[in-house]
Amino acid sequence: MPVPATETSGGGRALVLFSGGQDSTVCLAWALERFEHVETIGFDYRQRHKVELDCRGPVLEGLRAAFPAWAQRLGADHVLDLPVIPAISETAMTQDMTITFAANGLPNTFVPGRNLLFFTFAAALAYRRGLKHLVGGMCETDYSGYPDCRDDTLKALQVTLNLGMDQRFVLHTPLMWIDKATTWALAKELGGDMLVDIVRERTHTCYLGDRTTLHDWGYGCGTCPACDLRKVGYARFFEHQR
Ligand code: ZN
Repeated sequence: MPVPATETSGGGRALVLFSGGQDSTVCLAWALERFEHVETIGFDYRQRHKVELDCRGPVLEGLRAAFPAWAQRLGADHVLDLPVIPAISETAMTQDMTITFAANGLPNTFVPGRNLLFFTFAAALAYRRGLKHLVGGMCETDYSGYPDCRDDTLKALQVTLNLGMDQRFVLHTPLMWIDKATTWALAKELGGDMLVDIVRERTHTCYLGDRTTLHDWGYGCGTCPACDLRKVGYARFFEHQR
């Protein structure tokens, strides 16, 4: 059977940085709506709580079951083992520490340059798999404290990756300029209430790894910075729906 032109040119092939969290799940839906072949990549960097990684399978299953058209486009899922990250970064994400904010305004959950590493590993895999589009859930609106989430950083990285690998990758960050309420609205726009429910019930955001109680905005402790953003965003989205 002849391979479609877009398959050989890599035009419609994407790789989504998929953590199992709310943002990357919405990015995955965004990519499935646009590209004809979508693969996913996750990173095991000894996160303080691996619950987010554990959410990846159920989210993928949920998307496959609820959206048959997306199921046809959803390709291989890759998990890269990156134990080197905790070896170079002692932070609250990987150690049993309390989340605090340093004098520079960055929370101690920040792993320096983490997204640069993730996108670079993703690009190396995309090179091998013939995937042109790289999609990540970075956002300046909610996380302006993270310099590796900034639009300028990722635009510069796109140039660097293309020069360094002699490719024409395109880095997409569909959430870059929207807030959490709009991320919920984007989920609704892409996949209706079924996608909102998958995000609500199957994704994980809480820094403390708490999945004991299902709130209207999803599982979580309800008090850490990540839960707070998710909760406030959902409340504003829900209010707007009425
Ligand atoms: Zn929490």
